[in-house]
Amino acid sequence: MDFTYNGYRKMIYSLREHGYRICTYRNWQCEEQCVILRHDIDNSIEKALQLAEIEKEEDVISTYFVMVTSDFYNVFSKKNEELLRGILSYGHNIGLHFDEMRYSDIFTPEDANNRIINEAELLEKVIGEEVKEVSMHRPSKMILDADLKISGEGEKQLTNSYSLLYFKEFKYISDSRRRWREPVDEIISNKLYPKLHILTHAFWYNDIEKDLRSSVLEFLNSGNRQRYETLLDNISNLSSIVKMEEIY
Ligand SMILES: [Zn+2]
Repeated sequence: MDFTYNGYRKMIYSLREHGYRICTYRNWQCEEQCVILRHDIDNSIEKALQLAEIEKEEDVISTYFVMVTSDFYNVFSKKNEELLRGILSYGHNIGLHFDEMRYSDIFTPEDANNRIINEAELLEKVIGEEVKEVSMHRPSKMILDADLKISGEGEKQLTNSYSLLYFKEFKYISDSRRRWREPVDEIISNKLYPKLHILTHAFWYNDIEKDLRSSVLEFLNSGNRQRYETLLDNISNLSSIVKMEEIY
């Protein structure tokens, strides 16, 4: 599978052709053969929205996991709130992407539980919908081994996509660091497993395939342009100080 939008579409076609019903964490339970499509947003909500649109065109509902502690994006900004609501408008679900390394006071699974509930509530304020799922950003062994059942006050519960269930009952495949550890195409076409749990990062996908270095370099350079555009609202006559052409 190549890292293009067409490549991603082809994966969806192949999943359907080989009998996989595309489900979410909320509705796979009665299916014999199904796949959950998940996306962790580590860097760019813009890229996530593009993939969300492609999935909408293909009649796919998936889950996008969003951080509230990212150094790359601020979910409370107007722009990002609109992007997230755009993802929701395509029918997708939004979950919390939780980075336990953000905190220095998580010593027990219960500490993590409480921080997750707290972040989920913040995210709910932004998106105006209940957050029902969580995925972990680079989880520690303690968190993985704990097989967390996440619950808050009252009936509040979050599905933990890192619970054992989603690794034991499902075959988990991921494109982390822009590399499939296992041959995803063959796993699908040979129907090796009845249930699949596929993590993709929208960050790696483009109209035309870009290698690892180009993808990362482009992201870095586009950051300068974005900062420039934001600064236009903050410093009057910015171009008299630095011209757009002067930045990469
Ligand atoms: Zn992550």
